[in-house]
Amino acid sequence: MSNTDPQPPQKLPLNWVVWTLAVALMLYYLPSMRDRPEPAVKLPYSEFKMLLREGQISSVTLRGSELDGKFITPRMFPEQRRQYSRFLTQLPDFGNEAILAELEEQNIPLEVKEGHDASSSKVILLSYLPWIMFMIILFWLSRRTLRNFSGRGGAFDFDKRLETQFICQKPDTTFDEVAGQTNAKREVQELVEYLRDPDRFHRVGALAPRGVLLMGPPGTGKTLLARALAGEAGVNFYPMSASEFIEVFVGVGASRVRQLFKTAKENAPSIIFIDELDSVGRTRGAGYGGGHDEREQTLNQILAEMDGFAGHDAVIVLAATNRPDVLDPALMRPGRFDRHVTLDLPDQEGRVAILKVHAKRIPLADDVNLPQIAAGTPGFSGADLKNLINEAAIQAARENRDHVHSLDFDIARDKIIMGAERTLIIPPDEKHRLAVHESGHTLVAYYLPNTDPLYKVSIVPHGRSLGGTHQMPLQERHTYPEEYLRDKLAVMLAGRIAERELLGSVSTGADDDIHQATGLARAMVSRWGMSKEVGPVDLRDSEEHPFLGREMAQPHHHSEFSAEIIDKAVRELLVSSETIAAELIRTHRERLDKLVSLLERSETLHKAQIDECLQTGAS
Ligand code: ADP
Ligand code: MG
Ligand code: ZN
Repeated sequence: MSNTDPQPPQKLPLNWVVWTLAVALMLYYLPSMRDRPEPAVKLPYSEFKMLLREGQISSVTLRGSELDGKFITPRMFPEQRRQYSRFLTQLPDFGNEAILAELEEQNIPLEVKEGHDASSSKVILLSYLPWIMFMIILFWLSRRTLRNFSGRGGAFDFDKRLETQFICQKPDTTFDEVAGQTNAKREVQELVEYLRDPDRFHRVGALAPRGVLLMGPPGTGKTLLARALAGEAGVNFYPMSASEFIEVFVGVGASRVRQLFKTAKENAPSIIFIDELDSVGRTRGAGYGGGHDEREQTLNQILAEMDGFAGHDAVIVLAATNRPDVLDPALMRPGRFDRHVTLDLPDQEGRVAILKVHAKRIPLADDVNLPQIAAGTPGFSGADLKNLINEAAIQAARENRDHVHSLDFDIARDKIIMGAERTLIIPPDEKHRLAVHESGHTLVAYYLPNTDPLYKVSIVPHGRSLGGTHQMPLQERHTYPEEYLRDKLAVMLAGRIAERELLGSVSTGADDDIHQATGLARAMVSRWGMSKEVGPVDLRDSEEHPFLGREMAQPHHHSEFSAEIIDKAVRELLVSSETIAAELIRTHRERLDKLVSLLERSETLHKAQIDECLQTGAS
């Protein structure tokens, strides 16, 4: 979501004013600079008298007690290492009459002026003023330029950014735009009522809700819901990505938080929205490199600000995260983010609703059946579905069609699930091996009872993989029974077993299969108690990302002995899965051969083709 642009709009006219001013100043001062008084040498009184007597003086001006005079011819002054035609002499307070008489006698013109001599401070100031002004202007301009060019991150513009960052938004998003998510919408409905008329709640002494944490997988519409909440309530919205708080300057994160809360309070009723809260709100003192000072200060400031709310401040702090597990417990304390709203991946109905919202934008052909598309996209988030519609529209545009057809959606979905098709020249023997491998997966998936229905098998390179067997669950599941997982393991390892049975050797093509299968088997053994030897004990390793903190610092909470048992159980599980796959392949060897040659020819087989091939093989 785009924040408001931190840069103030450029003030070009101001630039011009400054330049004009500078030029005018120069023009004004240039003439006076040209007839600036020429340099003068300071003559002691005695020397002046001597030179006067020698007849070396051509004219004098008297200012107060100072004489400013000219020599008839320029004189060399070795001490200053230069010639002077002008001199200055301080006259004593007495005995000047003799000098005046002498001047008169020699017919030297004498001028008497008031005030100070030419080298007085005023003249110095006058002669340097343009330069000082010029420097100031230059400095000022350079600052402006720096600010304009550095964009963000320039040291100069950082105060400015603090000021301009929190321009409030008034989203016009409505709850209608958030499809599905009925639970979440119901939970935030109460907040809308509060924000619309906070006084009604304050009058009866009800405490204002403070912090609401939106939790859910990426793309489920957390940011969208926050905006819709502000839109429905018609209040000011101050969005802020938590990672933006963290800056290179120490203490800026905290001061931004202060500023943000201050602005929001001044403009209440309002909503502060801190997106990706986990990037600052992670458990303190965790992670590599000790405590991240900046992060902790920012977090502490958020906590302090939330505690500092007065009862009548109609400000609600919303935050979103997809990692509630790593958040600092202090954030969840009552009075802080004590309300939790969970957004789940949409179910089939939810997906239909989301598709409807986003399909409004595009012209759909008559053959498009949104419920059917929703049925074929389990596990897709709201963002994924939006992307699906967009990809379908792009596909239709590429084909120069006016409407988006059902076929476009199929292509778009394949592209999202499997990655874009890739042209890669595969030698025939490798292609044969690929066909064997994928047919192995397919056959075992077809015959095992607890697997998801087959959707498609392909040996056309897509994304990062060379081929793929795709299954599509009939409906989404929230828990998985053991037999489902065991069958899944067998399907995963079947590609490699088919290669071994049909070609006599295995290949590197099973790299990812083995990796996935091992991970699944390990979880079955160490987390879900699905192995007799280990039993119902949680022996999971830390799965935390090392940079995310928390669990990293803790030691493995199982012994070497347990580790050995786990490894053994995992291996046994995998080996027995291989055996199941191998038996199926041997039993249905003829059908497998048939499938291999069909796949090698057609390269891509859909569910109907697979069914047909394997069924007719039976008769
Ligand atoms: P999150 O913040 O949970 O990662 P977003 O709110 O940024 O997800 O969602 C990204 C986009 O996906 C939204 O802008 C919206 O277009 C679409 N989207 C996500 N969930 C929904 C939904 N429930 N209804 C409609 N559109 C959705
Ligand atoms: Mg988001
Ligand atoms: Zn495989």
